[in-house]
Amino acid sequence: MLTLIRAPHNYIQGENALNEFYENVKAMGKNFLIVCSRSGLKASQAKIEASCAGQEISLTFEVFGGISSKSEIARMREIIREKKIDVVVGVGGGSAIDTAKASAYYEGKKIVIVPTVCATDAPCTGLSVIYNDDGSVDSYLFYPTNPDVVIVDSSIICKSPVRFLISGMGDALGTYFEARMCQKAKAPSLENGGVSRSALALCSLCYDTLLEHGVKAKAAVELGLLTPDVDAIIEANTYLSGVGADNGGLAAAHSIYNGFTALEELTSMHGEVVAFGTLVQLILEEGSTDEFYEVMDFCHSVGLPVTLAEMGVSADPERIQIAAEKACLPGESIHNMIGDVTPSQLVNAILVTDALGKEFTE
Ligand SMILES: [Zn+2]
Repeated sequence: MLTLIRAPHNYIQGENALNEFYENVKAMGKNFLIVCSRSGLKASQAKIEASCAGQEISLTFEVFGGISSKSEIARMREIIREKKIDVVVGVGGGSAIDTAKASAYYEGKKIVIVPTVCATDAPCTGLSVIYNDDGSVDSYLFYPTNPDVVIVDSSIICKSPVRFLISGMGDALGTYFEARMCQKAKAPSLENGGVSRSALALCSLCYDTLLEHGVKAKAAVELGLLTPDVDAIIEANTYLSGVGADNGGLAAAHSIYNGFTALEELTSMHGEVVAFGTLVQLILEEGSTDEFYEVMDFCHSVGLPVTLAEMGVSADPERIQIAAEKACLPGESIHNMIGDVTPSQLVNAILVTDALGKEFTE
């Protein structure tokens, strides 16, 4: 297997970065469709318009329907054709971004991403999660390239709800451990290549950045304030985690998230479950005790779950069995683990993680 690494063509981040929107997109075309969530529109419209004022550029803002479903993508494609759009801009969280990426891809247009929260890996990856209209996951859509331009305005992110930033740290927490497993197991990355040294270095930096800056960034965003720690965590959650996962691959932690979505009592967001799943993965791979507690201590310090109860789930082996079976379905990334994992082994590791988490937080 050949190793490969790919990333967004341009990544711009910092205080009021959106004031430079026009400068960063002007070479791409004249006619822009901006696919946004309602909160994304509120956070970004004035800055984007001000940056384009007096320029020869047309902006169409379109609020999308909440999930990246086939029908929403079809509606956006219609607008792209009708208005002869050159460039699609996705503004908001994971779903707005995925809708924009898919619409641009199908119509052969360039794509700009402006995340207004940093809870997932969506901004920098070369794939989208596509949903059915009823909200269930339909498929992953893989693209030949990563986004053309990603602009992250830290002044907007620091005012977004802190839970999104924390959940993004949970998603970023899995990145290094999942990539390390893929490299050891010689399993392919999400881009179906071998894990390069460069990719693993990004994943390792992602983990170090969380440990160094996570607690301080959380405190700043709780106050709606921008500090260097917040910028460090935005980069970890968005670039290092996204490009890291894309090129480093996934293992047990993300499958455990997929498994837990089978439990309707689950109250946690994607990244929160990935954080717990990372602890479970460390039990499965028989890692060092010091490392396990370093990760658990980090989770607890920023408010990521270390017990089932914190995710709304009871330690009932029958419920956990349901999640474990879904997590171990064929095609799940948990099969990238060395020696593979069975549902019953996974149930045991989940219950032990929960017990250690309870002991830790008591
Ligand atoms: Zn994720």
